[in-house]
Amino acid sequence: MEHITEELVTQYIRKTLRPEQGRLTQMERLAEKEHIPIIQKEAGRFLSVLVAMLCPERILEMGTAIGYSAILMAKASEAQIISIERDEEMFCRAVENVSAYGFQNRICLLHGEAETEVRNLPGKFDFIFIDAAKGQSPVHFELALEKIAPGGVIVTDNVLYRGMVAQEGDVGHKHRTIVMRLREFLDMLCTDSRFDTAILPIGDGMAITRVKKQNEKEIISSAER
Ligand code: SAM
Repeated sequence: MEHITEELVTQYIRKTLRPEQGRLTQMERLAEKEHIPIIQKEAGRFLSVLVAMLCPERILEMGTAIGYSAILMAKASEAQIISIERDEEMFCRAVENVSAYGFQNRICLLHGEAETEVRNLPGKFDFIFIDAAKGQSPVHFELALEKIAPGGVIVTDNVLYRGMVAQEGDVGHKHRTIVMRLREFLDMLCTDSRFDTAILPIGDGMAITRVKKQNEKEIISSAER
């Protein structure tokens, strides 16, 4: 299994959506040519619309690559964005792309490991986008929980891992560990009473988690007693 939706449907959505403009289009072409895993077009549009609806003031992204999704989020909002990338070459290319958009005052790029950098960040974020290494998503989510504001939203990309997470039977030795981790992760996201999660079959699978405010937890638990 390579895609989580019918290829025909995905292709239809991609050709129907309004294309991105200017340098973003160049970044898409370059990413395809060089096999840089930027967010898929339909998932990117969903992210933009979600950010535009939520109007977050502070966004944190783990996994910048060349800055494509950070630029999408900056265009869709007035948020201050911090994005973390561990690969030096990717980081330098992201710096260039962010400057070309004149977003250097809104997007702060950090070069380093998310595990280290996130812990050092002051304050809370209204919106966190986790898009670094799939196998590390559960760890990155725990970090995100420490930094998310009450009522904030955490989006985790690639949670269905080319559909293998839903596949019955053996997925093969190479993918077994990551698939097991992602299944446990999704179970946790869907059962923990601290948040509400929706799983969308878009791109490579996205989990949208809203962290409840303290008073919501109290109202719900008294109503369900
Ligand atoms: N969000 C980007 C976009 O859609 O334009 C794509 C990010 S790409 C899927 C994942 C990136 O995360 C890679 O460039 C990789 O180097 C980086 N990465 C992986 N693990 C990381 C970690 N632990 N800390 C920081 N960056 C990491």
